[in-house]
Amino acid sequence: MILNEHVKKVYKMGEVDLTVIKDLNLEINYGEFIAIVGPSGSGKSTVLNLLGCLDKPTEGKILIDGTDITKLSSTELANFRGKNIGFIFQSFNLIPVLSVYENIEYPLIMIQNLPQKERDERIMKLLQEVDMLDQKDKFPDQLSGGQRQRVAIARALVTKPKIVFADEPTANLDTQTSNQIITLMRNIQKEFNTTFIFATHDEKIVTAVDRIITLIDGVITDDRRVVS
Ligand code: ADP
Ligand code: MG
Repeated sequence: MILNEHVKKVYKMGEVDLTVIKDLNLEINYGEFIAIVGPSGSGKSTVLNLLGCLDKPTEGKILIDGTDITKLSSTELANFRGKNIGFIFQSFNLIPVLSVYENIEYPLIMIQNLPQKERDERIMKLLQEVDMLDQKDKFPDQLSGGQRQRVAIARALVTKPKIVFADEPTANLDTQTSNQIITLMRNIQKEFNTTFIFATHDEKIVTAVDRIITLIDGVITDDRRVVS
């Protein structure tokens, strides 16, 4: 479902070109649960942003579900992302002036014309799924880190994306909360066959995934399936 060939990403830093991703070739199937690991600065976030349609490669082809996203205009890319992709960030990125319910609702208002009733049902089901139903009227600053990340997960899932990218999703969480979040994402992957791709240093995630891709200096040095 995700296939990319000869993907290269160069950042222009004034006079200098910084090649961050060199020649990335990767095939990812529906429902995979994958960690991209590697030292800080190795290009993990860049890969997530490229595959997640937040950024465009300098060269190469990225096919997602049969669409070459490198050929899309910015508007088409934003639409494609809205329909197919969810993102979870290390720092949660919730909107402080919106309630828990409204934060989860937000991507639906932006990208889909769902009837109000269906919209509400979908949000309520997710609130239950992430065990935040009784917190739905609270605001982000009234929540713990683990609760915020659960809201961010619900927000990433509300459009029923085929793929969810999670960039260091447990980096700001304690061990117990991290394990709960990982279990939650695993359950969602099993229930909906959602593909999860993590960028992480966290051993708790690395031991929970089915496939580990190691990135060093913008090059894949190892790609292995594991039994978890
Ligand atoms: P990781 O997530 O593995 O820590 P990143 O993908 O964030 O790695 O960064 C890879 C390299 O690209 C780093 O050297 C970083 O400084 C550089 N980089 C990332 N984003 C930009 C940018 N927008 N402009 C210039 N350089 C960047
Ligand atoms: Mg990063």
